[in-house]
Amino acid sequence: QSAGGGKKKADDMALIGITVAKADDLSEWYQQVILKGKMLAFTDIPGCYIYQPASYRIWEFIQDFFNARIRKMKVKNCYFPLFISEANLQREKEHIEGFAAEVAWVTEGGKNKLEKRLAVRPTSETAMYSFYSQEIRSHRDLPLKMNQWNNVVRWEFKHPMPFLRSREFLWQEGHTAHLTQEEAGKEVLEILDHYASIYEDLLAVPVVKGTKTKNEQFPGADYTTTIEGFIPAVGRGIQAATSHCLGQHFAKMFDIRVEDPNQKVKEGEARDKIYVWQNSWGFTTRSIGIMVLIHGDDKGLVIPPRVAEIQVIIVPVGVTAKMKDADKEALYDQVESVRRTLEDADVRVEVDYRETYNTGYKFNDWEMKGVPLRLEFGPKDAAKGVVTSSRRDIPDPAASKAELPISSIATAVPALLEQIQNDMFARASAEYAAHRIIVREWKDFVPALNDKNVILVPHCTEGECEDEIKKDSAGVQAEGQEVDVRAPSMGAKSLCIPAEQPEGGIKEGMKCVNPKCGKEAKMWVMFGRSY
Ligand code: AMP
Repeated sequence: QSAGGGKKKADDMALIGITVAKADDLSEWYQQVILKGKMLAFTDIPGCYIYQPASYRIWEFIQDFFNARIRKMKVKNCYFPLFISEANLQREKEHIEGFAAEVAWVTEGGKNKLEKRLAVRPTSETAMYSFYSQEIRSHRDLPLKMNQWNNVVRWEFKHPMPFLRSREFLWQEGHTAHLTQEEAGKEVLEILDHYASIYEDLLAVPVVKGTKTKNEQFPGADYTTTIEGFIPAVGRGIQAATSHCLGQHFAKMFDIRVEDPNQKVKEGEARDKIYVWQNSWGFTTRSIGIMVLIHGDDKGLVIPPRVAEIQVIIVPVGVTAKMKDADKEALYDQVESVRRTLEDADVRVEVDYRETYNTGYKFNDWEMKGVPLRLEFGPKDAAKGVVTSSRRDIPDPAASKAELPISSIATAVPALLEQIQNDMFARASAEYAAHRIIVREWKDFVPALNDKNVILVPHCTEGECEDEIKKDSAGVQAEGQEVDVRAPSMGAKSLCIPAEQPEGGIKEGMKCVNPKCGKEAKMWVMFGRSY
């Protein structure tokens, strides 16, 4: 958790550059990459982190992208309080049962014990829906679509992991109410598409769309749609974001009803009141961690161009102490002109003019921070009328370099950034596809997991069978011993029922992959070890 832990570790943290290979020790690598890349810093509270400008900027790109999408859907941003009264929190039974173990409570104010303790929101359904019941008086108030960008606290006792599983995290939570089930269902999927788009189009991270099984769905929801990511280095799945159809459960508990506008009644007769259909959907800072784990390499972060605050770093090279001032000035003038040209072409570009560091140090520094493209410019380049480009996403120095004529940079550099973005996504997609394999028989189940895959299996979709699979695919644990979720032997859980079913769906007569179950298979379900 902390960056401390012995002199060797402290020395490693002080060194420039990542001192451990991604393939050798993923968690140490991850910690060094995000700390040295200045994405995040630890605090004295486990699971609560400082999001430094480098990661917060990525969060802002995500916000800009998603806000533009949801505004088109007429969703409005707002803000609700951090605290929820216990009475409100408990109004939906399944919901509170699902969250009870993770709620943090405020019990004192100053020196006084509170008469009624207050929950710190783990999510805001129950904070918002009393208001919704007042706000929604008639079908004309529908649909009501609100969203907030805020923080939530889930006091999880699983091992916290920066970005991926923190006790306090940032997210947006959208909450909408609709007249019809159909309209609500349509929106759930529309949001899921936007979430997939944030991952795929901005973060260059492939995801699989699907629905959660009953076992894994959001407490209090009718059904949960999800996008599932994959961390190749450990072969584990990770829930990337979820969009829930809450049905009418919360509407019943919070009494959110309107007169049915479609009911035919005689003059003067009152229409029946019907419950509204609700959705909630959330996307968190976990996404940044997934991006780091997928794209980062032994030199540090690799940031996809669309979310890179600095897309291009220009490093003047061949500037020696012996160089005449006039020559240096002439070189820097040209560098400035390159920078301006790129800026005019809407490229986010900076120049590293630091003369106290040598070129090698500067290269390492920007590589560690994940800047997608480096342009070197020195006297030799000037003589040829070119800049030398070096792509961060290609580890082989020879393959990553190219010479770009200065006359063409206004178009060549944006095109190269697009290429990097597309190549990063294509590589990650190919890797996910190669590790998402079909398994038909139980004998192949655990070996496939051990080969760092997530698997698609024919399954009955029943909860008890899933529990059994989780148990039987885990390493043998001593009686009563808790399964360590970080251990490679942890059991597999259902990640989702993919929207795109292999082979066009389950063929008649196929049995559930679990031999102890023996029921008919209903769907192909994606199982995996997961974060
Ligand atoms: P939920 O409201 O439970 O559906 O959670 C919404 C999304 O939050 C999930 O799909 C996860 O991607 C993400 N998430 C859940 N728990 C955490 C956590 N402790 N830290 C960061 N992100 C989380």
